[in-house]
Amino acid sequence: MKQSRLFGKTRKDSPKGEMSINAQLLIKAGFIKKEFAGVYDYLPLGLNVINKIVAIIRKHMNEIGGQELIMSSLQSPNYWTKTHRWEDSDVNIWFKTKLFNEKVIGLAWSHEEPMTKLVKENLNSYTDLPIYIYQFQRKFRNELRSKSGILRGREFMMKDLYSFNRTEKDLNQFYEKVKVAYFKIFDDVGIGNKTYFTFASGGAFTQYSHEFQTICPSGEDTIYLDEKLKIALNDEIYTPDIAKELKMNNDKLKKLKSIEVGNIFKLGTRYSKALDLYFINEKGEKEYVIMGSYGIGIGRLMGTVVEIHHDERGIIWPKSISPYNIHLIALDTQDSNVIRQADKLYETLNKNGFSVLYDDRKIQAGKKFYDSDLIGIPLRLVMSKRTGDKVELKLRTEQKSKLYSRSEILNKIKQEYKE
Ligand code: ATP
Ligand code: MG
Repeated sequence: MKQSRLFGKTRKDSPKGEMSINAQLLIKAGFIKKEFAGVYDYLPLGLNVINKIVAIIRKHMNEIGGQELIMSSLQSPNYWTKTHRWEDSDVNIWFKTKLFNEKVIGLAWSHEEPMTKLVKENLNSYTDLPIYIYQFQRKFRNELRSKSGILRGREFMMKDLYSFNRTEKDLNQFYEKVKVAYFKIFDDVGIGNKTYFTFASGGAFTQYSHEFQTICPSGEDTIYLDEKLKIALNDEIYTPDIAKELKMNNDKLKKLKSIEVGNIFKLGTRYSKALDLYFINEKGEKEYVIMGSYGIGIGRLMGTVVEIHHDERGIIWPKSISPYNIHLIALDTQDSNVIRQADKLYETLNKNGFSVLYDDRKIQAGKKFYDSDLIGIPLRLVMSKRTGDKVELKLRTEQKSKLYSRSEILNKIKQEYKE
């Protein structure tokens, strides 16, 4: 991608009233645009990151047997009234609208009801189970406050997975698999070492649900962390007795700010009973399906990575989700020899499968470096009159750069991207 053609410009300031670090940096660097509080557009750079996160999650969901589909956001009240989640007095975050015939519909803020209904129409006998289906889908939530940038959107993308099992034992086994997959995902996107399995409030079926909380000073949540056990307790349910019950050491718990990047929930028969989702067992008897649900906020995850990986100059993307693998900068663009060399390198890198943002703009060097640090691609290459037939490589995380010959540089980059 030639930067002179890239849609979405870097800017000096973020909009007034945007307090969050994630949105400030992402707006200034040209990844997102703010429509109004809690509503953001994703520009090409931002969508590149989203697509990488989605690909990582998809891989891990497929690995545990998930099948991807996509459901509508438009919801009729039918099933939601049966689970008592339609009335505004029961769920206060609905966005609702009307069809021409005055029928009220809602914009889905979650998908337990439609997923349950969908499975009901595709399930006959016990041999059809288990079913694991998931989607990357937009949710709409009329959040009371949205001050945390893309960490709390009023419209946001979620990966939501739903499990349908015969027995509680099967559910428990799958639940453990999801837990492992989630940690792989958080490792892969670069926040694994700050993310903790956290006990949170449960439902009728289980005492606890579980959240994946990432330690971060700007987080909206508070957890009590047991560093030795590597588990945490959400302060919403914290008492010394509960901590003790979970074998946590009350004297050593750390109270910390955190971001809930994911949430997993054993639903049991709550939805299957309400919506009559059952199967016929070997004996010809009716049994209700045992369900679970598992969410990850895609935008929230991206925002969390920015909150954790940045410095005073801008974002520092982990290689796995950087919008491009390499930022190639040509200086002295009036010099046709430099441009020729840089063009050639750009082509070679592309041919070798690296995605490159190529700053070919005819502007001052200072502005190019400023933008490069702001955008935060992990590897920066510079070619100029000074570097001659060599290439200067600098990692975003380091201060020093090093010169490489044209023949060395490709191997060096391959090495960097091997890990
Ligand atoms: P929170 O407690 O932060 O309001 P939640 O418990 O309502 O979140 P879930 O309904 O479990 O969230 O949604 C699953 C995941 O979706 C969350 O773990 C989070 O990563 C993400 N998420 C929830 N609400 C938002 C939002 N408003 N904007 C962006 N992501 C969100
Ligand atoms: Mg929650």
